[in-house]
Amino acid sequence: MKLTELINCINLAYEHERHPDTIDVVIAIKVPYMTVGQAPCVGIKSTYMGFDWEAGQFRIIPEENLMCVKHNVPQEVINWNDVYCCPKCEHILSINDKDPDIKFCSKCGQAVEWK
Ligand SMILES: [Zn+2]
Repeated sequence: MKLTELINCINLAYEHERHPDTIDVVIAIKVPYMTVGQAPCVGIKSTYMGFDWEAGQFRIIPEENLMCVKHNVPQEVINWNDVYCCPKCEHILSINDKDPDIKFCSKCGQAVEWK
């Protein structure tokens, strides 16, 4: 997305919102488990125009650290509150108990390590 597109989206939302001063701006995030109610999200701490290596980017800093799970896929199974997920595609491998007999994700084939 380019900065101009973001500005246009914000302007469009602003024009149609009666009380824009009450609207929280958040970043929607994906979690590897079912949720009820509001989809998970994190707030925005700040923004800045990138410089040096980040020149040409408008950077949004979330209130909480976000981590990419797609790059350099580790094999270690992700544990989200006793829901064990594939480190590559986040497919649920096991719930409540570790299952070291599972060596590969049944959805994407990623090799997995239980620790
Ligand atoms: Zn997978």
